[in-house]
This record gives sequence, C-alpha cells and structure tokens, in this order.
Amino acid sequence: MEYLTKLNYQENNIKIHYSDDAESSAKDVIELLEEMSNYYEYLFNVKPTLTVILVNKTDYKKLFEKPYGMPFLFGSEKEWYINMPSEEGIIVDLIKEDYYSIHHPLEEKYINDYANSFVTLIGFHEIGHTYCCELGLDKLCHWFSEFMATYFAYCFMVEKSPKHAEIWMTINQVTLDAKRQLKYMTLDEFNEAYSTMASEAPGDYTWFQGMFNEKVDEIYKRYGILFIKNVLDTFKDGKMSSEDFEDKLIKIAPEFEDWLNDFRN
Ligand SMILES: [Zn+2]
Repeated sequence: MEYLTKLNYQENNIKIHYSDDAESSAKDVIELLEEMSNYYEYLFNVKPTLTVILVNKTDYKKLFEKPYGMPFLFGSEKEWYINMPSEEGIIVDLIKEDYYSIHHPLEEKYINDYANSFVTLIGFHEIGHTYCCELGLDKLCHWFSEFMATYFAYCFMVEKSPKHAEIWMTINQVTLDAKRQLKYMTLDEFNEAYSTMASEAPGDYTWFQGMFNEKVDEIYKRYGILFIKNVLDTFKDGKMSSEDFEDKLIKIAPEFEDWLNDFRN
C-alpha cells in the first residue's frame, strides 16, 4: 500500500490510505470516523484501531479480488481494516437499478449522491462490527450481529450527522420497495446461508439488511443508545444461548416479539 497517500488521525488509532484522486473523500470520511470514534470512546470507553483503505478501481485491483464497490471489513482486534470504494461500483449500480424499477419520491437528481453516500455509510456499518467485537458481542448469531453493527452506525448518524441518517433510511426504503423474488425469507435461513448469501443471492441479502435497518430505526426511536447498554448487559462475553436468546431480546425490547414471529412465516 506504499504508493497510497496516508493520513493519520487521533494519535494513530485511525489511519486512512487513499488513491491520488480520492483526497477530498478521504478527508470527509476520516472526519466522520474521528467523530464516531470519539462518540463511542466517550460512551463505552472503547477505541478500535482502524485502517481505512479508500481506493479507486485501478488501485483496488492491485489489492483485492472481489468485485469493486462494496465496503468490507477484515483484520482483528489488533488492527481492523476497512475497504471502502472511492468511486461507483457494484452497490451503487444495484441501488440505481432498484430506484429506476420503482416510483420513489426521491428526486432523480439526488440518486447518485445518495447512493454513493449510502455505500460510504455501509463502511460505518462495518465499523459497527468492530465495536461489537471490542465490546464482547462477538458471539451473536449472524442476523443479530448485522442488526447490532447497523445499530452502532445508526445511533452515531442520528446523533451526530442527521443528514446521513436521512440518506441511510431513504436509500433503505428504495431497496425495500424494489420487487424481488426471494429465495430466503426467515432469520434461520439467513443465519444458515449467511457466508454465501451476499454473493450467491445479493437481492436476498439486501432485503434482509433492509429489514434490519427498518427495525433498527424503530428500536432506536424507542430506546436510543440505552438499547446498546441493555444488549451489552444481557449478551456480553458470550452470555447467549440460542434457546433463550429470543426471550432475552424480547425482554429488552418487546417490539421484537411480533417481528420475530412474522419472520418465521
Ligand atoms: Zn455487516
């Protein structure tokens, strides 16, 4: 990565490597990241070490083999790496395809910016996964791990950058309104097919994430950051068995009861 320009922030717990033509997005991303890092350090006394790789298609091809345009996380608690695209790729294409297949109130002139911002915010969802791990929530089942990663990202957006929360929910609605033939429809199926679903059935994966985002918004409006505190008290450090997981979750937020039942049918 030596050929990429590097920026260090916050006593080096956050670094960003970026392509030559991505300087202004790198600055925007790292400012938001620094704010998120401060927010959760203050709330939960946790400070993951993060390196963001924000690259264009050409640099990306030298580093990775997966299709371009989807943020992803790798590494571990020693140092987390988050790949984020600096130009349009697969996810922006899919969002635009969804948008043009429906009648959504978002004006057409905004769709590019909104779709690109949404992809950046998926990067913040990835950072949400690092908080789950660092706070002892690394043994959650797949669907709840996705839910919590978004919860961390969404709390931050609403509290510190409401415009991003609006973009997140607007594009989420676009992806949920799009008509899809679903192969998978229950949370058990999501958990079972998790490791391959994003590549094998991307429409299904998007739909599940969309359903989680919608629920995150509802739960956030009711409980705010307190929900994370209660989840930590209940499930931290593997205090979770599959038998009583749902009962415990419903105890924290009864709004899950009907939602979980609907997902079973
Ligand atoms: Zn995720």
